[in-house]
Amino acid sequence: MPLVSSKPVLEEALRRHFAVGAFNANNMEQVQAIVEVAQEERAPVILQVSQGAIRYAGMEFAAGLVKIAASLVSVPVVLHLDHGTDFEQNVLCLRAGFTSLMYDGSKRPFEENVATTRRVADIAHIVGIPVEAELGQVLRVTDKVTQDDVIAAMTDPDQAEEFVRRTTCDSLAVACGSVHAMTAREATLDIDRLKAIRARVSIPLVLHGSSGVKHESILEAIENGIAKVNVATALNQALIAGIRRAVAELPDETDPRKIIGVGRDEVKEAVREKIRLFGSAGTIDSTGGFTSPKKQFRSADLGEIE
Ligand SMILES: [Zn+2]
Repeated sequence: MPLVSSKPVLEEALRRHFAVGAFNANNMEQVQAIVEVAQEERAPVILQVSQGAIRYAGMEFAAGLVKIAASLVSVPVVLHLDHGTDFEQNVLCLRAGFTSLMYDGSKRPFEENVATTRRVADIAHIVGIPVEAELGQVLRVTDKVTQDDVIAAMTDPDQAEEFVRRTTCDSLAVACGSVHAMTAREATLDIDRLKAIRARVSIPLVLHGSSGVKHESILEAIENGIAKVNVATALNQALIAGIRRAVAELPDETDPRKIIGVGRDEVKEAVREKIRLFGSAGTIDSTGGFTSPKKQFRSADLGEIE
């Protein structure tokens, strides 16, 4: 299928209380693993190009990988910019064929964040492309953050209402207890805060830093308005684990495909676990449209949850 916009996909997810997995497109193997599993699980999927991927692979190359991968499957695939740094980068992504943008002005003063997000939204909406914005800050582990820092950076529900109204953004990344790049699932989200935001904001909400959040907390968040869950660290860990194992088992192997291929298989299983957890498995029929809600199922290790 050609790439699709994130807007109808996230709105359907919000209506039906599942979340679309947004996985980082860093290299060919990860892109293949993500799209193959989306196809096998009949789930819509978002492939996002991070700032690190732009530095590593280049925006055009990363976008090209995702477009080719999407053309080979019959489930909706979105090409999204993750943490867009400024107006100019968003315009470049529009030109490169992205079907979903993000401007992250969360580190800027509120008024500046509002103004730039609005500017990005105005130009993107002309060509029918939705924009994710961020209010409050999802910090990174590498910042040596304390729990007090995480709480202080959380999204203010009243401000969120004003922000969405003034920016016309299509989805909102909220800070409610997750931290980027956590390698263990230890964080619990502030669900009451999420409910308060949800009461004031009707657009789909986005969870960043999900790799460090307990599964139960993610499910509660999805019940309360999170329609897109970003996953990066868990997939990187899977790729490296597979590569390490292959190198240990095949110390004399000189064909990199035999090594990296094991990593790719490992990424597939990590993606499958997330897609099933988020409830997006089985939501897409054989024609690429949404199934009726009854066909949905969730991860077996958490029991059947409807
Ligand atoms: Zn993020």
